[in-house]
Amino acid sequence: MSDPICAAPLWADATANPPGSAEALPKQVDVLIVGAGYTGLSAARETAAAGRSTLVLDSGEVGAGCSSRNGGQVAYSIKPSFGSLTAKYGAELAFRICREGLDAVAHLRSLATQQFDCHWRADGCFFGAYTVRHFERMAHDAQHQPRGLEQNISVVPRAEQQAEIASDFYHGGCVYHDDASVDPARLLFALWRRAVDGGASVMDSCPVDAIQSAGGGFEVLTRRGVVRARQVLLATNGYSGPLSPWHRRRVIPIGSYQIATEPLGRERVRALIPHGRNIVDSRRVIVYFRPSADGERIVFGGRAAAGESNPMVCVPPLRRMMEGIFPQLQSVRVTHAWVGWVAYTFDTLPHLGCHRGIHYCMGYCGQGVPLAPYLGKRIGQQMLGLAEGRTALDGLPFPSRPYYRANPWFLAPSVLIYRLMDAIGS
Ligand SMILES: Cc1cc2nc3c(=O)[nH]c(=O)nc-3n(C[C@H](O)[C@H](O)[C@H](O)COP(=O)(O)OP(=O)(O)OC[C@H]3O[C@@H](n4cnc5c(N)ncnc54)[C@H](O)[C@@H]3O)c2cc1C
Repeated sequence: MSDPICAAPLWADATANPPGSAEALPKQVDVLIVGAGYTGLSAARETAAAGRSTLVLDSGEVGAGCSSRNGGQVAYSIKPSFGSLTAKYGAELAFRICREGLDAVAHLRSLATQQFDCHWRADGCFFGAYTVRHFERMAHDAQHQPRGLEQNISVVPRAEQQAEIASDFYHGGCVYHDDASVDPARLLFALWRRAVDGGASVMDSCPVDAIQSAGGGFEVLTRRGVVRARQVLLATNGYSGPLSPWHRRRVIPIGSYQIATEPLGRERVRALIPHGRNIVDSRRVIVYFRPSADGERIVFGGRAAAGESNPMVCVPPLRRMMEGIFPQLQSVRVTHAWVGWVAYTFDTLPHLGCHRGIHYCMGYCGQGVPLAPYLGKRIGQQMLGLAEGRTALDGLPFPSRPYYRANPWFLAPSVLIYRLMDAIGS
């Protein structure tokens, strides 16, 4: 009988989630942050280092959400195109919004190469074309990038694809040379260490149940007691629950699922992905994969289901997707499978700001590895009233829909329709 599959991220084998503080819950703080992921820890660093007493609370372990569960792929992460943003907001603001995506990558690059040890690998990403039409569109876009927003991209025709991936699955693609990868758990640990060294207190196993206005500040009701706070930040992203119905109506939690193969050996992994790059493709229901940080395994992820919280249920569909691309992996064992909840928004932009006195920063649409540390820093600066905290995303409407309260009932049919569209290559 084969060994059971571990229902935890591969990264947790080498790096445990950071410990929570053992101190007693304070009665009063300047800044209380709900959510101890990349966003909350990055904001905490700013406010604590500026001398504001700062408390970060998480209902689970520190970083229990996506920040310990992601794929560690680092890419330009503003989803809407410059053209669609221009149609909505005009060229000047559209340009600045897109620049935020580039600045987020630059910010993480600088942290990861100068301050953190989180296995930064600047190997780039191969973006595989699922159809010939997708290839033609991506080649056109690569050759007509908006001025000032250029990324270092090369077009790879199908005939040269084997240099990128040992598979005929794609119809060519593009290499994004500036993309990179990190070990997500080490990044979490480094951001936690930085926040704590800056003076923040980070507590685990302390769900926040309610936030009430009180005397110009807030009373925050937690399972361990009440804390008075002058300022509050919601950094709950895809885990935004009943605590704030207004935010819950604006983020759509979507399950993202990953598996890791057994160690295959570096030679074999290199033979599959010769440059060690991240790989994503142009399907609507995306898949993403990469070599593990030690180069021994393939870590493969995608939207294998809409709302399934048991990662084991997603092993067979993810395996099928992986074997569709790499038939060579048909007999390998899967050792790890896990799931996390990313936060989509109705306009596919991230959002930060202040609603009824409560600050928030969320909605990275599955691309928060660069965005969350960057925008978390910015919202922390905004809470301090600093001009450098301003972003091009400030003041944008944070849309909801009349039919959406908290249950994303439309996800399953949407995923089905997208799968059908992918299947017919539209
Ligand atoms: C499988 C998977 C793969 C991914 N791959 C990538 C990738 O390759 N590249 C990329 O850019 N992004 C990726 N992402 C997305 C990325 O991980 C997230 O966008 C990012 O980590 C968000 O960070 P965050 O701090 O905002 O939220 P999270 O890390 O999700 O933290 C939110 C926290 O809020 C806490 N919380 C919620 N409510 C309460 C409450 N009431 N009281 C106390 N605490 C509360 C939760 O416990 C949670 O820890 C992936 C996500 C998943 C799940």
